[in-house]
Amino acid sequence: LREQLFTQEKNRALGQLVAGIAHEIRNPLTSIKTFAELIPSKFENAVFRQEMATHVPKEIERLNQLIGGLIDYAKPRRAKKEPVYVQSLIEAVLILFQPSVEKKGFRVRTNLERDLSINVDAQQMKQVLINLILNAIEAMEIKRNKAVDAQAEGLTLHVSAWADETDVYIAIKDEGIGMSMEELNKAFEPFYTTKPKGTGLGLSLSQQYVAENNGRLVAESTPGQGTVITLIFNKERDANGQDTGNR
Ligand code: ADP
Ligand code: MG
Repeated sequence: LREQLFTQEKNRALGQLVAGIAHEIRNPLTSIKTFAELIPSKFENAVFRQEMATHVPKEIERLNQLIGGLIDYAKPRRAKKEPVYVQSLIEAVLILFQPSVEKKGFRVRTNLERDLSINVDAQQMKQVLINLILNAIEAMEIKRNKAVDAQAEGLTLHVSAWADETDVYIAIKDEGIGMSMEELNKAFEPFYTTKPKGTGLGLSLSQQYVAENNGRLVAESTPGQGTVITLIFNKERDANGQDTGNR
């Protein structure tokens, strides 16, 4: 039953992503097609050749990243820990959300310290980030749908990563509806949901994955203001290569 429900949650998230991504794939394709169509008439034009040489590889790279993100997401998971760059991990997830976030009119601010590495299962951590970002976006949507004034204009999703001497931190902060203390306590229970189509599994799965990857998850929330979920990974443990988690 748990496997089945996991698949449900995953499919729902995937469905939302695919809808946004389909649109995002079309733009680079249109650009590449246009260059191709112009080749017979404009090939003698040096400026055209230069532009084509710059833009076409860039658009193809973008398509590659999008498809890479989708493949990673759809791949069956296997708990396999390896050093993963935090910045690349976060950017690979954010690129999946970019089209839908833009469409909804939310802003994304990232503040990612460079060269941070954690020893985790990249697939599982991506899944965690997807769940958390999905919740953050939904919380801002609910707030905006409720807002009677312009209060909900320009709501922002903040994604940060930094480190101190002992730990690496990843924080997902939203300016959504937030949660009361009671709601926050229940939020991590499996099947607890306040959403009509929610499964209530996003946070419990995320917490489980983070724990499996030797991390901690800290949640703070203020009703009406927003929520911050912080993931904390110990540096020492990673550096010593303890518990590489190959089961
Ligand atoms: P689901 O999103 O399917 O409801 P989750 O386990 O992801 O399941 O979340 C459980 C509940 O916790 C949500 O229904 C919501 O009430 C609350 N919640 C989770 N994340 C946030 C957030 N960022 N802001 C406000 N409430 C949240
Ligand atoms: Mg959720």
